[in-house]
Amino acid sequence: MKPFGYVRAGSLREATGAYAAHPDPRYLGGGTNLVDLMKLGVETPATLIDISRLPLDAVEERSGGGLRLGATARNSDVAAHPLVRTRYPLVARALLAGASGQLRNIATTGGNLLQRTRCPYFQDVSKACNKRRPGTGCAARDGVHREHAVLGHSAHCIATHPSDLAVALAALDADIELYGGGDGDAGDGTGATGGIRTVAAQSFHRLPGDHPEQDTVIRPGEILTAVLLPAPVPGAVSLYRKARDRASYAFALASVAAVLDLDPATGRVRHVALAFGGLAHRPWRATTAEQELTGAVLDTGTVRRAVDAELDRARPLRDNAHKVVLARNLARDALATLAELAATSRRAP
Ligand SMILES: Cc1cc2nc3c(=O)[nH]c(=O)nc-3n(C[C@H](O)[C@H](O)[C@H](O)COP(=O)(O)OP(=O)(O)OC[C@H]3O[C@@H](n4cnc5c(N)ncnc54)[C@H](O)[C@@H]3O)c2cc1C
Ligand code: SF4
Repeated sequence: MKPFGYVRAGSLREATGAYAAHPDPRYLGGGTNLVDLMKLGVETPATLIDISRLPLDAVEERSGGGLRLGATARNSDVAAHPLVRTRYPLVARALLAGASGQLRNIATTGGNLLQRTRCPYFQDVSKACNKRRPGTGCAARDGVHREHAVLGHSAHCIATHPSDLAVALAALDADIELYGGGDGDAGDGTGATGGIRTVAAQSFHRLPGDHPEQDTVIRPGEILTAVLLPAPVPGAVSLYRKARDRASYAFALASVAAVLDLDPATGRVRHVALAFGGLAHRPWRATTAEQELTGAVLDTGTVRRAVDAELDRARPLRDNAHKVVLARNLARDALATLAELAATSRRAP
């Protein structure tokens, strides 16, 4: 590991100021991804700006029934929070499906969404990788790519995004709050510029295109300050399912986050949201399937056709066609389970 400087920020303004003042800086959340990458020589920052102790660790009610998850809230604390568990069970399930208890105790909300890909060639500095060093090539394309993308990949990169939380957020139409990259007032009463902006969670992560080195739309120096969850759809049921090589401590081969609301009078779909993880460079919101399902009665044939319409767009590579099969089965099963749950909750006194 190369020597590096360390600054502990006491406020958002101090953090963005330190970022601007130091060469080659990185923000430090829990460090469970960044420090690992520094040990491997993939990340070589000159200065770490520790933002983990900023007072951004609360889970708070928003007006209108939503929740605000602070960026430095630990994954374990968010997953265990009573309001998260009761109103957004798929967020709690997604977090608990990730990493291990020890990692979740230190990993933060912001860091989880900004963690880098687990592509082994990205993590090996002796291998060509356009994400790590733009223009050098992609060793995974002709290498071992059993765990790589089947949707939305480009000639330049076939990596997947690893966060489970991000998939749940995409299905919930959450927003991401960012500080420090805009031109307006910083909003901290100091008159400093910096600005706060929000970005829809489903547009926060990028497809690789020609620039796989840019994982998200975050601007240099911006801090992710919170996740904003909208009020849950009344009466809707939801779940998160993940297929992986081991029962725990493994990234998704494919995962699905689903939300469903059925009209109690007709049994038809009033609202459905479906997002896949492990298939692409970002959570994959299944808008084609959602369109097919909205207004329909959820029988086996309708579900099959809708899921197929979405996943027929997949472009699997030599070694990863199994991911399409996994995703199809996960989505069909998730929708069937939710339809049953919705019917049961309608019958309940
Ligand atoms: C063995 C192992 C298994 C894992 N399995 C899973 C899994 O199955 N599913 C899953 O979702 N995750 C998994 N993880 C990933 C783990 O959840 C992440 O390492 C963790 O969430 C990163 O959070 P952190 O706070 O430690 O981030 P850090 O390592 O501190 O930061 C990660 C990146 O985000 C930046 N950053 C951090 N916070 C902010 C912020 N607020 N604003 C701007 N930039 C910021 C940092 O500069 C860095 O680039 C696994 C990790 C390991 C080591
Ligand atoms: S898939 Fe992406 S991250 Fe992996 S080696 Fe290729 S360019 Fe790098």
